[in-house]
Amino acid sequence: MTSATRPRAACLIGWPAAHSRSPLIHHYWLRKLGIEGGYVIEAVPPDEFQDFVFRLALRGFVGANVTIPHKERVLALTKPDARASAIGAANTLWFADGELCATNTDIEGFLSNLDAAAPGWDQAEEVLVLGAGGAARAAVFGLLERGIARVHLANRTRARADALADQFGDKVLPVAWEAFADLLPRAKLLVNTTSLGMHGQGALHLDVGKLPDDAVVTDLVYVPLDTPLLAAARGRGLKTADGLGMLLHQAVRGFELWFGRRPEVTAELRALVEADLTGA
Ligand code: NAP
Repeated sequence: MTSATRPRAACLIGWPAAHSRSPLIHHYWLRKLGIEGGYVIEAVPPDEFQDFVFRLALRGFVGANVTIPHKERVLALTKPDARASAIGAANTLWFADGELCATNTDIEGFLSNLDAAAPGWDQAEEVLVLGAGGAARAAVFGLLERGIARVHLANRTRARADALADQFGDKVLPVAWEAFADLLPRAKLLVNTTSLGMHGQGALHLDVGKLPDDAVVTDLVYVPLDTPLLAAARGRGLKTADGLGMLLHQAVRGFELWFGRRPEVTAELRALVEADLTGA
């Protein structure tokens, strides 16, 4: 079989080979769209990573996802786009004109998930983001790209919020973690990018009753699927967008780049991944 006739394949490069939902998602789309292709997990230790990336095409791959611990390092081995450079990490690789390019699809996942769950959310003037880690960088980049006027940023470690504001400019306003509750009445969108609320982590203490009546709440945590924050927001009649939605939407771009068709995030796909996450 020549490279021209071999089915297209992509892979997820990580170390150790963690359990990932990506094969489930991409195989679902390949099946749905009738595309002959593949998606496999490749466990690649740090000292073999550079060689693996340089030989990606020789190994028969049209592209890849990259995960821990390689997401930052891959920038120096590829041609990163503006999104990957701004975030300082890439999760998706593909070839364009013979060059290996890199992007970060968490931004698109974050935005598309909000668009699907709460259309019009980007009319918000003021947004409150909790957290200043990797996921927060993607969220803040996306919010600014959509023209949000003021992004208040609260993080337990203040210095990380300050650093993020320094990088992204004066629309990002750092606020003390202890003071974020004061901003709730003004936040038309609340974004939790901390790991609080995740299984095995601490609880996020926040009174959703203080949010405006038309606020939207999104939580990037997806284990559990229905976080206490999302449940409380829904109980108050607020629109919500969950972490699983973001996870599914961030996979769309990679599939499109590798296999040439833009796939859809359907209720059927969601149910499939939900069942995998909950062990149903
Ligand atoms: P990260 O870089 O390690 O950042 C973790 C963030 O949580 C930091 O802001 C950290 O604050 C904060 N935090 C942790 N424990 C805390 C506590 N006890 N009190 C207050 N703040 C605390 O992690 P990340 O990559 O940004 O991921 C964060 C969450 O987003 C994870 O749950 C991850 O699964 C989720 N995520 C979801 C998606 C998706 O597609 N749905 C994508 C990416 C990430 P400090 O700076 O003070 O440590």
